[in-house]
Amino acid sequence: MLNKYRPPSRLKALTSGLLTWEMHAGQNKIYVTFDDGPDARVTPSVMGLLDRYQAKATFFLLGRNVEKYPFFPEHLRSRGHSIGNHSFSHPDGWKCSSRLYLEDVQKCSQWMDSKLFRPPYGRITIPQARQLKKQGFNLFMWSVLSNDFDRFSNPAQCLAKTIRYTTDGAIVVFHDSLKAEKKMLFMLEGFLEHFSREGFSFEALPVE
Ligand SMILES: [Zn+2]
Repeated sequence: MLNKYRPPSRLKALTSGLLTWEMHAGQNKIYVTFDDGPDARVTPSVMGLLDRYQAKATFFLLGRNVEKYPFFPEHLRSRGHSIGNHSFSHPDGWKCSSRLYLEDVQKCSQWMDSKLFRPPYGRITIPQARQLKKQGFNLFMWSVLSNDFDRFSNPAQCLAKTIRYTTDGAIVVFHDSLKAEKKMLFMLEGFLEHFSREGFSFEALPVE
C-alpha cells in the first residue's frame, strides 16, 4: 500500500542523482521545510514558533505570494532561515510543457534570489529537472510529508505518524498556507517539542 507520509521508493531510486530526498544522517539534524508561503499571518506565526525552539528552517516560496509580500525573503533570511524557489504559480510539471514550467520558475526568480528549488506537488519530469540543474538549481524533495493540508485526517494521528517516520537527516514538509494553518501549527509545535526533547537540532538547507 502506498504510504502517504513517504515518497515512493521507485521514484526516489530513479531520480537520486538529480533530486535530493534526504540529508546525511549522523548529526542529529532535521530539516524542516515549508511550502506555498509566504502568508502575512501564517508565516510570522511559524517564525515565532521556530524561534521558541531555536529552530532554523527552509521556506520554499511561491513567486505570486512574494509579489504580494515582497519583504519576506529578506526577513526570513535575516532570521537565519533559508529560502527556496517553489515556482511563481504552482504548475504541475507532469501536466505542462518544459518551456512553460521553466518560465514559471524563472518568473519566481524575479521576486527572490535563490538556487534552491522544490517542484510544486513534487511533480517534475527528468528533462525539467535536468534543465534546472543546468541553470544551477539544487532540487529538494522530501523524506517525510506531514499531511498538514489534509483536512480529513486527525491532527494528532498525523503528528504521531510524522514523528514516527522522521529520522536523522530527514527533510520534512509542512505548509505555511492559510489552508493548512490550524493543523500545521498544532503539528509543528508537537514536532519541534518532541525532537528537541530527543536532542535533535533543526537546520536550514544549505544554500551553497
Ligand atoms: Zn506547493
